Amino acid sequence: MDNTDPVLTIDVISPHTNESVGKLPDMKVDEVGGLIDKAHTAFLKWKETTISDRAEIVMKAIDSLEHSSEEIAHLLEQEIAKDIEAGKKEIERSVEYTKFTVSATKDLNGEVFFGDSSKGLKKGQKTGYSSRVPLGVILAITPFNYPVNLAITKIVPALMMGNSLVLKPPVQGGLASTKLFECFIKSGVPEGVLTLVTGRSSGIGDYLVTHPKISMIAFTGSTVTGHHIAEVSKGKVPLLMEMGGKDSSIVLSDADIELALDEIVKGAFTFCGQRCTATKRVFVESEIAQEFIERIVEKSKTFKVGPLISSVQKDLILAMIEDAKANGAREVLGGQAQGNIVLPTILTGVNENAKLFYEEQFGPVLPITIIQNVDQAVNWINTSRYGLQSSVFTRDIDKAFSIAEKIDTGTVQINAACGRYPDNFPFVGVRDSGIGLPQGTKDTLLAMSRQKLTVINKKV
Ligand code: NAP
Repeated sequence: MDNTDPVLTIDVISPHTNESVGKLPDMKVDEVGGLIDKAHTAFLKWKETTISDRAEIVMKAIDSLEHSSEEIAHLLEQEIAKDIEAGKKEIERSVEYTKFTVSATKDLNGEVFFGDSSKGLKKGQKTGYSSRVPLGVILAITPFNYPVNLAITKIVPALMMGNSLVLKPPVQGGLASTKLFECFIKSGVPEGVLTLVTGRSSGIGDYLVTHPKISMIAFTGSTVTGHHIAEVSKGKVPLLMEMGGKDSSIVLSDADIELALDEIVKGAFTFCGQRCTATKRVFVESEIAQEFIERIVEKSKTFKVGPLISSVQKDLILAMIEDAKANGAREVLGGQAQGNIVLPTILTGVNENAKLFYEEQFGPVLPITIIQNVDQAVNWINTSRYGLQSSVFTRDIDKAFSIAEKIDTGTVQINAACGRYPDNFPFVGVRDSGIGLPQGTKDTLLAMSRQKLTVINKKV
């Protein structure tokens, strides 16, 4: 008789069928604690390796990821309903980001400080030099929508700076994350330098973020979860938190309408609007509002969308549409669901009372509000709890810069929809869109290390 304990698992539910497409180990706190201890032991050795040794292993892992692109794209299609081409693009971006980051690590240098600027110190008496040293074990928590790319943007800088990393992937996205993890392990990342923990957030979440051997938390996900993690971790470790967004586009009457339409339709409906930088609100000047609305409805009718991540998410989106309508909005396109698919939906006359006006909708729904002047829109953007990105469409470049200066979001796009690409650009969310350290290639390397100063005291 087999007397081993049965391995507990969590089902990964397909957005297409609401049925299981795979299983992940349902780890409990004891097991997770043991893995964090091992990650800490591994860190003590890994931090002694050279940057060129780390680069060699990381580049090997990324080769392996590139070779697994087809397979991972199929997993993403099954577990989060991302279309195959978009899945491959996510991997391509991850490879590119890794190359930027490995190269930026090699370029990272310290500084030299000379003491003789201070009164009383002689020339050469005190000379300091700074270097970057790792923090320890970094905990990475990633969301369902880009489980590969948003893991890579944490794993690669962490490992390159000499940290070890514990990855807690989302349940949906956990199969692709497991494959990604395997690419690193088979490329020679020593045991414990990269660790995968899977389990129910309700069971292991608070344990992970308060574990004394965790030296930093790098999180991407919703604002609700981000705030919860910030609260329970009590400021004991540095946080790098990328959270929700309500990215708005302002379309001025002198805009290139064709360009604005193309960008906003893609921005709002790509991957069913399940992107932190999806266009989630449009402010259009009254002079062109009628033409803009008629044409965006026409253009959006044929935009192909897949199912939302879950039936729960579909119900939330439908409820937001109903709430907007109850608050006076007019549905000019969509509004219907087929299974977990919500068709591209556009509402006009969405006012400040509607949740759709101020809350993040993670679905293919675009609220449009007509404005009489641009300051009104800037004010709404600046008083939103979210501050990830925004965009302005106008042919008047002077006006574009003046508006960009007034807008208070991490990024302002001029004549393009909001979006994160390319990945070597810094990426910052203000207010409820981010907490703590900034993100980017060099910024993340700095965030995942600290400065160490050595002072040479010479007898003079
Ligand atoms: P989520 O529900 O907040 O989950 C994110 C991650 O946190 C998942 O791995 C989840 O695991 C985990 N988690 C949940 N509760 C936790 C807890 N108490 N302790 C520790 N971990 C916990 O977000 P999501 O639905 O996956 O992703 C969508 C959100 O992410 C949107 O708000 C979007 O704007 C945001 N996002 C932001 C960016 C950015 O760069 N700013 C990029 C992408 C997405 P489980 O799967 O086990 O629940």
